[in-house]
Order: sequence, then structure tokens, then C-alpha cells
Amino acid sequence: MPILEKLTQQSQARHWTDSIPLEFHYTAGVAGEEFRRELRDNGRFLVSKCSKCKSTYIPARMYCPSCFIEMKDQFPIDKPGYVYSFTSVNRDRAGADTELPITVGLVKFEGVKGGIVHLLEKGDSDRLSIGMKVTPSLKNPSERTGAITDILAFKPISTESSSKTVEVGKAERWEVGAGENQARSLLHSIEESGYPVEEDEMTISSLRSKISKGELLTREEDRLLHRLGDKAREWRKAVKSSSETEPADTLSG
Ligand SMILES: [Zn+2]
Repeated sequence: MPILEKLTQQSQARHWTDSIPLEFHYTAGVAGEEFRRELRDNGRFLVSKCSKCKSTYIPARMYCPSCFIEMKDQFPIDKPGYVYSFTSVNRDRAGADTELPITVGLVKFEGVKGGIVHLLEKGDSDRLSIGMKVTPSLKNPSERTGAITDILAFKPISTESSSKTVEVGKAERWEVGAGENQARSLLHSIEESGYPVEEDEMTISSLRSKISKGELLTREEDRLLHRLGDKAREWRKAVKSSSETEPADTLSG
């Protein structure tokens, strides 16, 4: 009896080998569960926004780590992510060699704190790079379970439309996509501003058709678009300040 007698040799101890069934359940937490539900049901990423510091976090969480207050504002985002950091590994989690290197990365989203660590795939592009815009490739809705593996991998956003019309160096492909997005948003802001384009109407409409076809603008057109963008911004500012000063003027007069 080991309890009553002191063992002088380990071999004197009687022992047997068996197994004890132990089961652990780790919950994803309240916000973590909502994040997973949104991913499973709608294929989108849920974020939380702090009402005090206005920070937004991915994945959704219950408390703001800076303000220590509950974040009740949760909403899905559909903007693309970008590669913040990545590495390639040649071994799996068990330490066994993989057939091909696996690339994992931290994907972050513009204006959102936190990120998602997941597999990265090159997709159609030739190589991955920091800052590259990526979008998740998800399992079919019927196969999703609410696990993080509902995301198969993140893939670079295809820049096929711009690479069709322009011969560019492979490393520049993303740059072209970025320019295209910028042109699109500039055009949008000009149209939104209500700036009277008048004599520039012809130019605007030719830019509009080029941008909508995903064609690359010439340097001249790009400059023009930026100039119009600046004018539109000035216009917007002027409209805003006049609408702010008018009531005050009326009151004092
Ligand atoms: Zn906060």
C-alpha cells in the first residue's frame, strides 16, 4: 500500500494503464458566437464598434479593450481585407512535412482593429505581397458549420479586367487595380457633389465609360479626373459652409 508504506524503489509501485474520458468544451463567447453565426448564415464578417472611442473590432467582441465598456453596436462588413503579414510553412501542426508549402497570413481590414489569421492562396495572381487586397473564399452555404474553417482561404481580388486591356508587369497588377478603384471613387465623389460639370460633361462621360469598362486611364485623363475631383471637393465645401452660415445671417439680420 503506497499510502502507508514508503516506496524505496519505483518498480515496487503497482500501476496499470487505462484512459479516463475527459471532454472539454470551449465556447466562442457571446460575440464570438454571433460572429460565427453571421459567417455561417450570410458569409460575412461581423464587427463590433465601441460607442466611446469609435474603434471597430474584428472579429466581433463584447467589450472594448481600451474603454472596458460593452459594445452593443455590431454589424457585418463586406469590404475586402488586405494582407498585413504572411509567411510560408513547410510543416503541418503535427510537425509533419507538407507536400507543398502552406501560406498563412494576417488579414486586416481598413479602419478596423484586429484581424483574421488564415490560409492565403495566390489565386490568379503570381505572388502575394503585403497590402494586397484579398477576399475570403468560403465553403458553400450548405456545408458551413460556423467554424473558422468555413473560410477556405483568402485570395487576392482578381484584377483581370485591367490586365486584359493593359500589358503591365506582374508585380504591378495590384497597383493597377488600386488606381482603378481610386478613379471609380473619384468619379463617384464628383457625381455626388452636384458640382456643375458643364463644359467638362463630355470629358466626364468618356471617363465614366472607360472606368466602367475597367480600362486604364491615360496619364492626361487621370490628371483631369483628379483636377475635377479637387473642384468637386471645393464645391462641396462651399455648399456646406453656405448652408451653415445662412441661418445665422438670417437670425442676426
Ligand atoms: Zn472603446
